[in-house]
Amino acid sequence: MLIVFLGAPGAGKGTQAKTLAQKQNLTHLATGDLLRAEVAAHTELGLAAKAFMDRGDLVPDDVMIGMIKGRLEGPNSDGILLDGFPRTVAQAVALDEALITANTSVDRSIFFKVSEEELVRRLAGRATCPNCQRPYHDTFNKPQNTDRCDDCGSDLVRREDDKPEAVRNRLKVYATQTTPVLDHYQKGGNLVEVDGEQSIDAVQEDLAAAIG
Ligand code: AMP
Repeated sequence: MLIVFLGAPGAGKGTQAKTLAQKQNLTHLATGDLLRAEVAAHTELGLAAKAFMDRGDLVPDDVMIGMIKGRLEGPNSDGILLDGFPRTVAQAVALDEALITANTSVDRSIFFKVSEEELVRRLAGRATCPNCQRPYHDTFNKPQNTDRCDDCGSDLVRREDDKPEAVRNRLKVYATQTTPVLDHYQKGGNLVEVDGEQSIDAVQEDLAAAIG
């Protein structure tokens, strides 16, 4: 089983992916989380990626394709949930090619549809647990104790790229470089659109129905 989550930054992909991966025993590959771990560990890849990420630009395709290819080959529970990849048509094509070699393909791609106005509102209030990656929001998804993770008690952090200027750039980059990826999957015939402006639970139900 290989599922791809598509949608703008702030569309709720990460929040939904965590729950779905747990329920269906899928390996959750979130490229943003993988990159942030590389940055935190001061690896060569992390150092190279950080400037792109802080500005809200995409990390170059060859870096991302190499990162995902290596992980597709690993042991992967009952399947894989790709969250944040592919983000360009070149990445989508490279993924298709890697899957053809492995005699498989993308089973379902899900597009989380959210208006730009709502995306900006969501990104502005985001916080994340740096330890277990659980996402929170000042308005929609508050922790029980201010700025502490409900699960592991760590102090929550706010992302550099959730600052207004980087948010504007991320949305622009999404519109120009990532929306063509939707056409790629639409043509492949397995794209399902989910209304990402609903409550977290309602989106979860639609997802369950879409995946079957
Ligand atoms: P995210 O957490 O998914 O919003 O990703 C944070 C940042 O990581 C993005 O703004 C990009 O700089 C970088 N990134 C994550 N996934 C990709 C990808 N598939 N291609 C290029 N850059 C990526």
